[in-house]
Amino acid sequence: MPKFSSLSALQTALRAGTTSVRAVVQYYLSQIEKQQALNAYVEVWADEALAQADALDFRLRQKESPGKLFGAVVSLKDNICYAGHQVTAASKILEGFTSLYSATAVERILAEDAIIIGRTNCDQFGMGSSNENSVYGPVRNAAAPDRVPGGSSGGAAVSVQADTCLVAMGSDTGGSIRQPAAFCGLWGFKPSYGCISRHGLIAYGSSFDQIGFLANNPEDIARFLEVCAGPDAYDSTSAEFRVRSTEYREGSCRIAWIPEVFEHPGMDAGVRVVLQNYLEKLRVAGHLLTPVELPKMGSGTLLDYLVPTYYVLTTAEASSNLARYDGVRYGYRASGAKNLEETYRLTRTEGFSDEVKRRILLGTFVLSSGYYDAYYQKAQQVRRLIQEQTLAILQNHDFLLMPVSPTVAWPIGEKSDNPVAMYLADIFTVQANLAGVPALALPAGAHPENGLPVGVQFMAGLGGDGKLLGAF
Ligand code: GLN
Repeated sequence: MPKFSSLSALQTALRAGTTSVRAVVQYYLSQIEKQQALNAYVEVWADEALAQADALDFRLRQKESPGKLFGAVVSLKDNICYAGHQVTAASKILEGFTSLYSATAVERILAEDAIIIGRTNCDQFGMGSSNENSVYGPVRNAAAPDRVPGGSSGGAAVSVQADTCLVAMGSDTGGSIRQPAAFCGLWGFKPSYGCISRHGLIAYGSSFDQIGFLANNPEDIARFLEVCAGPDAYDSTSAEFRVRSTEYREGSCRIAWIPEVFEHPGMDAGVRVVLQNYLEKLRVAGHLLTPVELPKMGSGTLLDYLVPTYYVLTTAEASSNLARYDGVRYGYRASGAKNLEETYRLTRTEGFSDEVKRRILLGTFVLSSGYYDAYYQKAQQVRRLIQEQTLAILQNHDFLLMPVSPTVAWPIGEKSDNPVAMYLADIFTVQANLAGVPALALPAGAHPENGLPVGVQFMAGLGGDGKLLGAF
């Protein structure tokens, strides 16, 4: 059980003077200390957090009215920029790099008096589903330390799971918030594409990336979303969205679900049981559940196209986004190079992990002139179809229910030598990013055999962010 159950409960206690912001920060710092073996943090900004706490306590004593997020202690994924602080995307290639500016989302939460306590471990450049692909080593799941926490925001998830902060700010390109949330028994939310500015988020797949949050309840996520959402001059893909969760609170929702998804060959039997029980719970709670058919596509169904389309397009975007790490402009530079070209080559050879290199190679290949039409352009067309099919279901229903992951958290090392198996684990999460729609993962129950957390996922139509966060 977390010590502070929600932001509003914490703020009530702070207003009443039964606790202080300093005491809150001290509690979380002591938790970080205790939970070090989980490897969730790569750097902790203890002195700074305490100084901010003292300044806030002073203002509270002066009866100044604080910002909307006062008292909220936040962890920051190591791919989100915070001016004057190091950021590395868990990669050697950004070793020693300090942010020159803060992400817009970071600026917005700081302006509302949130306190950032440290940066969290993740998969290198957000590429991975287990947080094993990091220069800082793997993160451990607090529910079962020999298992992965999910990825790429594994450190972010464990930072909340181990009660070392109230809310974690992460990023989600194809499930990196929702899958770790599910593996760690938390709520995790990826907003509509464009809802939160990507300015200051280290780019992986720019047309997929979104900043989002992990927390113990949807209200805390909604509070952060309200502060961060909205257009930003630094990100031309950001736009105005209705995000006020309270506006949408309604009793009964029309929820679509796809029976065939539950029969997918990769689905773990215990996960299926938890999800079936969860469907029943929704029915009892008065929601209207409608089975819908799995959309047919090409020679198969929608499910067959999700992972391939996602990996063609994100690797293409990654190969272009990661071209900037050349040993000249940022972070790490290999020594001993005889000329400029060798500087590039050695720096990138030594600086990027195997997984990052694999994706740069794949992305460069699908964009190359001989194969562009066959892979990249084709995948763009399929993406459009996936988006249309998803939006068609969401036009007649409030939400589409999906699993988050076909399995629970797997043992550390189990899939690390098998990139394709790792990619296939993303089958249920990439759809929301391909379609640009918001998606929420929440705890559905414990696996009947091993007791590990199982999550369930809901997608809403574009801009249905507030509705999603207010519904469950
Ligand atoms: N596991 C997916 C990938 O490796 C998703 C990562 C993410 O959302 N950043 O691309």
